[in-house]
Amino acid sequence: MFSSPEEVFEKEKRYIMQTYKRPRIVLKEGKGVIVKDFFGHEYIDCVGGIAVNAVGYCHPRVVNAIKEQAEKLMHTSNLYYTEPQVKLAEKLSMISGMGKVFFCNSGAESVEAALKLASKVTGKHKFIAAEGSFHGRTLGSLSVTFETKFRSVFEPLLLNGMEFVRYNDAEAIREAINNDTAAVILEPIQGETGIIIPSEGYLKEVKEICTEKSVLLILDEIQTGFGRTGRWFCKEHEGIEPDIMTVAKAMGGGFPIGAMLAKEGIEFETNEHASTFGGNPLACAAALASIKVIEEEKLVDRSKELGAYFMKKVHDEGIGSNQVVKEIRGKGLMIGLELTKPCGEMVEEALERGILINCTSDKVIRLVPPLVISKEQIDRVISVLYEIIK
Ligand SMILES: *Cc1c(COP(=O)(O)O)cnc(C)c1O
Repeated sequence: MFSSPEEVFEKEKRYIMQTYKRPRIVLKEGKGVIVKDFFGHEYIDCVGGIAVNAVGYCHPRVVNAIKEQAEKLMHTSNLYYTEPQVKLAEKLSMISGMGKVFFCNSGAESVEAALKLASKVTGKHKFIAAEGSFHGRTLGSLSVTFETKFRSVFEPLLLNGMEFVRYNDAEAIREAINNDTAAVILEPIQGETGIIIPSEGYLKEVKEICTEKSVLLILDEIQTGFGRTGRWFCKEHEGIEPDIMTVAKAMGGGFPIGAMLAKEGIEFETNEHASTFGGNPLACAAALASIKVIEEEKLVDRSKELGAYFMKKVHDEGIGSNQVVKEIRGKGLMIGLELTKPCGEMVEEALERGILINCTSDKVIRLVPPLVISKEQIDRVISVLYEIIK
């Protein structure tokens, strides 16, 4: 297709809006945890398409499901019934315990749907979100996203009376709620902000406050969902049921799909919301296959075990007590290494040693590898991290 990576870089710059700063490698193919570049160099991928490739690159079951569905029916719109969509809805309800689903195509879209639904159901329009939150880049989802670097150029955004309160402080939420509050929206673990894990009991307390004040709780499980934290959904660690839950990322095994789930009775009615592509047969077939792989290969438990293995090993190696590393945080295979300096350089050095890692929030190395990663691969990742931190 192209004669060299340089040609790709040049044309990308010429024809694509420069919204992304990327390392100078062109990825060509992947299998499991390994991805190969233009020259066939292999990398152990701890980014996993940003917590998307939970079942690994090109899992044969997902590939086959897509192939088979593509030959039958790719798109119909939601003006007609299709079987994969209904089957996936049933499956999602079973694994999440939520009543009903609205299908869309991405994380931000599911957050948009959640905000819209909460406004409709409560008749109120004020939202409370957390400092450090990340919920997406569309105007609505950006309105509940905290970081000024994402929002300042676009202000004023859409939601009047939006309020941000300290994360991990349930009382702050109680104080912020007033008669106009429709919902509180939270990530159970803040991903983009650097794997910030709230104290045990926080979400439970927030849920109790929301129930007491008749305010909805929207849980954004877009990054934490589908086994990432060692449970199907992170909410299970606290045994809470949100009113609305957003999912996307790992849901389709690499195929774009998102969903907003809500408790029975918290629903849109005819024509109140829609999406042309949402829940199309091809995306749903991919998601069904991906969920089946997570079930059959017991990837939820694997995430828990290997996450614990990773954390222990990192501590044993003394990486945590190194001057460059300020803190290591993790739940399942959602792990963050907070450094005392920006991590850009480390990302480059890891790349040169055949490991892909991602830097988020400037100083946090985020490790969200496919859940199929092996102990040997984890050992390799840790030894490379150790080498470059030293
Ligand atoms: C990635 C992410 C989003 C946005 O999802 P997109 O598919 O990029 O729109 C929203 N919330 C959280 C918690 C995320 O991690």
